[in-house]
Amino acid sequence: MKICTSIPETRKELEKLRSDGSRIALVPTMGALHDGHLELIREAYSHADKVVVSIFVNPVQFGPNEDYETYPRETDRDSGKCRSEGVSLIFSPDASEMYSDKKLSIEIDELNRHMCGASRPGFFEGVLLVVNKLFNIVRPDVALFGQKDIQQFQLIRKMAEEFNHDIELVMVPVVRANDGLALSSRNAYLSEEERLAAPLLYRSLLYIEKQISGGVNSPKMLLSHQRSELEAKGFKIDYLNLFDLQTLQPVERLSSRQKAVIAGAAWMGKTRLIDNILIEF
Ligand code: AMP
Repeated sequence: MKICTSIPETRKELEKLRSDGSRIALVPTMGALHDGHLELIREAYSHADKVVVSIFVNPVQFGPNEDYETYPRETDRDSGKCRSEGVSLIFSPDASEMYSDKKLSIEIDELNRHMCGASRPGFFEGVLLVVNKLFNIVRPDVALFGQKDIQQFQLIRKMAEEFNHDIELVMVPVVRANDGLALSSRNAYLSEEERLAAPLLYRSLLYIEKQISGGVNSPKMLLSHQRSELEAKGFKIDYLNLFDLQTLQPVERLSSRQKAVIAGAAWMGKTRLIDNILIEF
């Protein structure tokens, strides 16, 4: 397994990896790898012959008061995990390699108006910028992302379509701990007590799903009640709502065959948790 930090070196290594006609998969990450990331790597082998993992804590997607400085960085453990999964190449640049002379950004329309786009200004602009760069550096045949970050996936899909990236995109279902909590590198911030309460967010999504599947097609009251329940359990709700899967706008009333996502983001102490469940009414 090669570990490259420079763009030219990465391109050279990729040329070698491709020389036997191999299909290349890219799994972009910010490191502190957990089983969710490893599932993306494992799934990648169903779509490609060789897997490239990028590990880059992308500064331009963090707001001024967010956790860029304290975000967990576990380079050695991450490389060990990638090696065990048979990864061919880790691309792990530093910020100056990626942003030596940044002058441009990507603007996003109403797809950014709700969910995480509303509460984290500049976040998805930063995500799209780095993913666009990674696509151009690695030029993978296929790239894999997690459903946990569903808005991110839908925005990357739109970017790939509009910017004509000829890359197959695969969304991998949310990987969870035994108690249902969606795995996340940020879960490391949770205290013992907070960790015990954290799975209630997923349980609330499951309850909403059950009610909707049972015929509640106008879930306003249901959602508002669940928000209050979670607040009472110590969460500070950022959003908990039903969104159309394509437009990412809130849905007041589900129509038949509409694909939607029940999505939530909530603070548990100083940890921001996100999660979602896909539904079709
Ligand atoms: P991150 O390192 O948090 O930026 O995540 C890198 C990739 O892993 C993204 O595509 C995430 O959506 C995905 N990912 C993170 N956590 C999970 C999880 N619990 N299940 C599935 N995919 C995940």
